[in-house]
Amino acid sequence: MNEQDARKHFIKYTRSSGLRVTPERLEVLDCVLAWEGHFEADSLFLHLKTHGSKVSRATVYNTLSLLHKCGIVSRYRFSEGYSQYERTAGRPHHDHMICTQCGKIIEFENRRVVRLQDVLCTAQKFKPTYHSFQIFGVCQTCRGEKD
Ligand SMILES: [Zn+2]
Ligand SMILES: [Zn+2]
Repeated sequence: MNEQDARKHFIKYTRSSGLRVTPERLEVLDCVLAWEGHFEADSLFLHLKTHGSKVSRATVYNTLSLLHKCGIVSRYRFSEGYSQYERTAGRPHHDHMICTQCGKIIEFENRRVVRLQDVLCTAQKFKPTYHSFQIFGVCQTCRGEKD
């Protein structure tokens, strides 16, 4: 799904959910589509605010929730307390390693992970819609400081 398709998909999804496509929601969508990497809802809100947007925090949160439901962003809980998002539209699928000390996130792509998922699901007669594979540990930099 490229960015233009993502926009159309979001508009269609929002309307079919009985919600209005407001300029504020589209502002959040455009900001998400332009964002590289992972972000928290509050970072997105602050970014919009410092760029003169009048979008409320509540609109940011509920638009992110809509974007998550319609598959334009992924939502992760890498640590306690808050969620991180990232755009999936226009980016290849990947998984994550998370450093529990500094919070660094390493992205990786591995076709064997994807293939293994198919093997496992077939064995259980399970039809996967998406998967989320996260490895928690300590990154090289953090280990280096301790040694
Ligand atoms: Zn680290
Ligand atoms: Zn990622």
